[in-house]
Amino acid sequence: MTACQLFSYSEFILKKTKKYFYIAESETIECFFGIRYDIERLALATYICEVVDFLALEEVADDDLLRLTLNTLYALSEKKDIDLDLLKAAFEIRAASVSGFTPDLHACGVCGKEELRHGTFLDVMNGRVLCSDCSKEYVSGLRETDEGFSPIYVKITPSVLEAMKYAVYSPIRRFLSFSIPEDEISNFGAACEKYLLSHIEHNFKSLEYYRNLIRYGYTDE
Ligand SMILES: [Zn+2]
Repeated sequence: MTACQLFSYSEFILKKTKKYFYIAESETIECFFGIRYDIERLALATYICEVVDFLALEEVADDDLLRLTLNTLYALSEKKDIDLDLLKAAFEIRAASVSGFTPDLHACGVCGKEELRHGTFLDVMNGRVLCSDCSKEYVSGLRETDEGFSPIYVKITPSVLEAMKYAVYSPIRRFLSFSIPEDEISNFGAACEKYLLSHIEHNFKSLEYYRNLIRYGYTDE
């Protein structure tokens, strides 16, 4: 029972019959108990697991997705001072990346300019960034992309861009080891959430629950 509980990281020995898998043996490796003490962390962990459930393919091993999940759940369980919205955003952009939607954040995706300052936009569906000059043409609609989908642009600050680069390109075990000015976390969060959900074209009930919890607080009435 312990091995099968929500948030448990366990090893199973499975036996397969024609139709079903049966658990022959199991051993719990980690159960991230700290998540259960805080309703916001519990809600966020539920969202994270729902995303992973959506991204993971049955009977296909995915080491990067597994390590990302374990690192995220560990931080949720053990790091009491971590900002939950920052953790959520970093997970979202990295989850999109390990699933094949890695954005190119090194330079403007149109003109190649590397020094990106204010006025930079994340071009969500093309997985690239646009410098302030290029974004004037694209975001205003003067120039159109011809890929056949509606473009989505999110304006991002230089520190949000740096945070995104860190969350996407650093080794997974350190993907949360960055900070960002507090007043820019919402911009970071909006960009990363938009990026993940637009690429996988899916919404999650657990995300709605988490958002409402953060917005209105917890009430047991
Ligand atoms: Zn440019």
